[in-house]
Amino acid sequence: MQVLVLGAGQLARMMALAAAPLNIKTIAFDVNSEAIVEPLTQTKLGQGLEFAIEQADVITAEFEHVPHPVLDACQASGKLLPSAEAIKTGGDRRIEKALLDRAQVANAKYALIRNQDDFKAAIEYVGLPMVLKSTLGGYDGKGQWRLTSTQQVETTWLEMEACISAQDSQAIIAEEFVAFDREVSLVGARNSKGEIVVYPLAENVHTNGVLSLSTAIEDKALQGQAKQMFTAVAECLDYVGVLALEFFDVQGKLMVNEIAPRVHNSGHWTQQGAETCQFENHMRAVCGLPLGSTEMLRPTSMINILGEDCLPQTVLAMSQAHVHWYGKDKRPGRKMGHINVSGKDEADRKAQLEAITKLLDPKAYPALSQK
Ligand code: AMP
Repeated sequence: MQVLVLGAGQLARMMALAAAPLNIKTIAFDVNSEAIVEPLTQTKLGQGLEFAIEQADVITAEFEHVPHPVLDACQASGKLLPSAEAIKTGGDRRIEKALLDRAQVANAKYALIRNQDDFKAAIEYVGLPMVLKSTLGGYDGKGQWRLTSTQQVETTWLEMEACISAQDSQAIIAEEFVAFDREVSLVGARNSKGEIVVYPLAENVHTNGVLSLSTAIEDKALQGQAKQMFTAVAECLDYVGVLALEFFDVQGKLMVNEIAPRVHNSGHWTQQGAETCQFENHMRAVCGLPLGSTEMLRPTSMINILGEDCLPQTVLAMSQAHVHWYGKDKRPGRKMGHINVSGKDEADRKAQLEAITKLLDPKAYPALSQK
């Protein structure tokens, strides 16, 4: 069995690592250069989409911003899972919001903006404060504005107008500002028989719009709500593979912020904390194998390594810390790797996180001192 991953970054790399023990081979397609590469070494194996599709038994994606012609060609081959429709939904907030409404899951009140009149109407309908997000190409907090007072309307419009005119079919979604208590996410898998498994929720901390710390949590009431919403969304899309839902927790009630039709950064803790990690479950789902158990074996936190390419040896020496590098060149703020820190129980996980915090540079890991 050979799986082709659209995208050749760290998620493809970790899919390949998890797939190997199942005798599943993984190759990756760099959508920019159209090179087919080995996901761990980036060794070039071939060139061109047509050849890549031919090589694959199954095609999947590591990100939602895959050019639509690539997705359409893969869909036409009959090998793509999840479907092109599901992947496109994650890459366009317009389609995503329509899906959330169709699935009848709670999400922030919103309006679509294509011109200045729409903007005025959105301010009326949604009210201030509001969050404005580009519908295409926005991730990790990019392409977003906060509008808190009417004085900012003119300058915000100029920036939004530039964004709209820079890209075909670009638009802006105005969303009510949600005063959430915390952000959580649910990662789960659905197979082609419609069976669903979900991991325990993760509580997420973002720094400058990028996930910096994620911790698996056990909360029966929230877990039940999240699973019901996950099921509604996954069934609407007839989804196959790993899917992530990001939520706002507002006084114990969840609202979906966004979906990610792929393995997700907030699911990396499962590599050390769960019976079957999210990468293996994704490969199992798309290859038609039985889904693996999502049971949490050990409470675990994941620390993202952003813009750093080395760690003190003392971190590696910790018995309950596991380092995952992505083999990337260093750039400021870039996701370079992550560390999973586990405990025998919740108290021990906290103690281990305290211990690792003392070993890391607080400037490079600000989320650890805020926790
Ligand atoms: P997103 O790209 O939609 O995940 O947004 C990035 C971050 O902005 C989220 O993780 C939240 O912290 C924040 N955010 C997004 N939408 C809203 C909203 N409607 N109200 C308040 N904060 C938001």
